[in-house]
Amino acid sequence: MSNSLSAMARRRTRAVRVGPVTVGGDSPVVVQSMTNTDTVDVVRTAIQCAELAGAGSELVRITVNTPEAAAAVPAICAQLERMGVAVPLIGDFHYNGHRLLAEQPDCARLLAKYRINPGNVGHGRKRDEQFAQMIETACRYDKPVRIGVNWGSLDQDLLARIMDQNARRAEPRDAIEVMREAMVASALESAARAEAIGLPGDRIILSCKVSGVQDLVAIYRALSQRCDYPLHLGLTEAGMGSKGIVASTAAMAVLLQEGIGDTIRVSLTPEPGGKRTQEVIVAQEMLQTMGLRAFSPMVVACPGCGRTTSSFFQELAQSIQEHVRERMPHWRGEYDGVENMTLAVMGCVVNGPGESKHANIGISLPGTGETPAAPVFEDGAKTVTLRGEHIAAEFTAIVDAYVAR
Ligand code: SF4
Repeated sequence: MSNSLSAMARRRTRAVRVGPVTVGGDSPVVVQSMTNTDTVDVVRTAIQCAELAGAGSELVRITVNTPEAAAAVPAICAQLERMGVAVPLIGDFHYNGHRLLAEQPDCARLLAKYRINPGNVGHGRKRDEQFAQMIETACRYDKPVRIGVNWGSLDQDLLARIMDQNARRAEPRDAIEVMREAMVASALESAARAEAIGLPGDRIILSCKVSGVQDLVAIYRALSQRCDYPLHLGLTEAGMGSKGIVASTAAMAVLLQEGIGDTIRVSLTPEPGGKRTQEVIVAQEMLQTMGLRAFSPMVVACPGCGRTTSSFFQELAQSIQEHVRERMPHWRGEYDGVENMTLAVMGCVVNGPGESKHANIGISLPGTGETPAAPVFEDGAKTVTLRGEHIAAEFTAIVDAYVAR
């Protein structure tokens, strides 16, 4: 069986350069994330950017909401450079982005991309002027922009116009369809306006984020049929913990399976004490389990049952998962080949040996009532049986030695 979707047709999009990263075209789906620190706090923001980049975020967005935040951007870039972190930073602008970019040229120059929300750049003539100001700055500094429409801040003038048009139809569409059409129209009309101002089409990425799974799927399907700009996928306000992960995956997997989506962000509300990097790991795992990209060896583990009454099995599965993710990240350009490896950590003899034989390396732990022995399989053949208190350390060493070979 194959888990690869490489033969699946990706939607053809223009390639947009964001610093050294290409979004769209033939490039693989790019993983990105966003900080939740106060941008004015240079050290904390730089540390979080570095953590996100270290976890595999290929682009990192920071909010630029005040003159102080804009003034902090050069210091954050300098701090990242001192830390040896080269991740491209994207500035997230709302309401006052036109002023911040015009008044703080270093901020405008150092950011790799600007995110512009067309629903938050003003109303009427002011909206057009302020939007144009931001696009002109992007043209001046050769920057790409993401026109990022959001359900919660949809351009009200445009919505009123679409509702008005709908009311005059012989068979008016329902309110949800009107809202979806307004989202798509906001993105496409803004992109057309940006191109008319002078921004080349290969510097535009679009997104239309909503919090409903079915809305997201319908909106992106429509958007993908009506343009060839690269699309940034994300379910906004996805929520916390398992709900956020499931909702994001349910929505994005459908679209990715159809070849729609050039960059993704999984927007998770961090649980108290939780790590921001979790959203990067979820995004990577979504792409890897779909066979779209590979980031590190894949760990398969059985769910456990009444045959695994000690916590040892779960602890080993978790420690191996963390070990390979942190120590063997193929996406950093290291460990060529590990991205196609599979490791199996199995709880007992029922499926353990069989699943372990299918993996590059597998271990079948002793379930309740079984002989306290853990056979290890490498490339389908049993190589050693581990016993005693040091099974975890010995199995980790076997994995390391296999990868080193
Ligand atoms: Fe339970 Fe064994 Fe199956 Fe794991 S492999 S779920 S421990 S029966």
